[in-house]
Amino acid sequence: MAYKGTVYRPPIEANSFLLPITEGCTHNTCTFCSMFHNIPFRMLPLEEVEDFLARTKAAAETAGLGVGYRSRGINCERVKRVYFVGADPFALPAHRLLERIDLAKRYLPNATVFTMYARTDNIERKSDEDLRALKDAGVNDLYIGVETGLDDVLSYYDKGYSAQQTLEQCERLGRAGIRHCDLLMLGAAGRGRGIENARATAQLENASKPHKILMTTLTAYEGTKLNDDIERGAFELADETETLQEEKELISCLNLPGCEFWAAHPLDVVPLVGYLGPDTQEMLDDLDYAIEQIDASAVNRIGRKGSL
Ligand code: SF4
Repeated sequence: MAYKGTVYRPPIEANSFLLPITEGCTHNTCTFCSMFHNIPFRMLPLEEVEDFLARTKAAAETAGLGVGYRSRGINCERVKRVYFVGADPFALPAHRLLERIDLAKRYLPNATVFTMYARTDNIERKSDEDLRALKDAGVNDLYIGVETGLDDVLSYYDKGYSAQQTLEQCERLGRAGIRHCDLLMLGAAGRGRGIENARATAQLENASKPHKILMTTLTAYEGTKLNDDIERGAFELADETETLQEEKELISCLNLPGCEFWAAHPLDVVPLVGYLGPDTQEMLDDLDYAIEQIDASAVNRIGRKGSL
């Protein structure tokens, strides 16, 4: 298989079996994102997916391991969780996803969870019946790029949906029994709006009830409209101190006991991982310490700019 583009996955899926089923992004116009520029969206035909599975199995069997990662000695019997690679594989119609799940199960007979990125409009286009069928087949833990609870910011980034639309689709997932893990972006609203962004985003998350929250921090990549806007002075990034204060406000406003809060992305200023409720105070203390110690001007000179 000649897969086009970089393989991205949430850091917490490091131990999952990565199975490419789409290339590119159906939307591909978010103004901060350059991940899939020049890569048209494409559904990988079943033959290509099967070729990947068959070649992986053959390579692992040569090493006496079965399907899996040779270096870790995982064989086909041990693969429980499959991560479908692509910007938004959930864009595929339900019957196409079910075909790929059935195929994967032939090679990975004990796989029970199939996870992937999903955009809000991917969910909107599926019926409740589709969602239940996908849940029954093992789909769970969909990663949704929620980013922010502020509609003007979502609009500026051309995300293609409002906070209310995301909330409604998360509620539909919940009724189908599918958990969602939300990706939020610190600094999304720019300089001077960190607290406002934290409060609006916490309000959305408290209503949508994610299984996990994954944080990243707004970064300007070359070749994006955001980067152009910053260079011509139309958008100003929050500095590191404001970003940490925003994160502190967000955690303080979240009322999601037991939800995992994962903020250890390479773009995050202070790595934090904990469960809201039992670990909330410790995470707030860590942020207070960082806010006291950080030299924002020095960190900003190092810069969070470039590419992943
Ligand atoms: S942020 Fe996600 S939805 Fe937006 S263009 Fe990038 S990959 Fe596509």
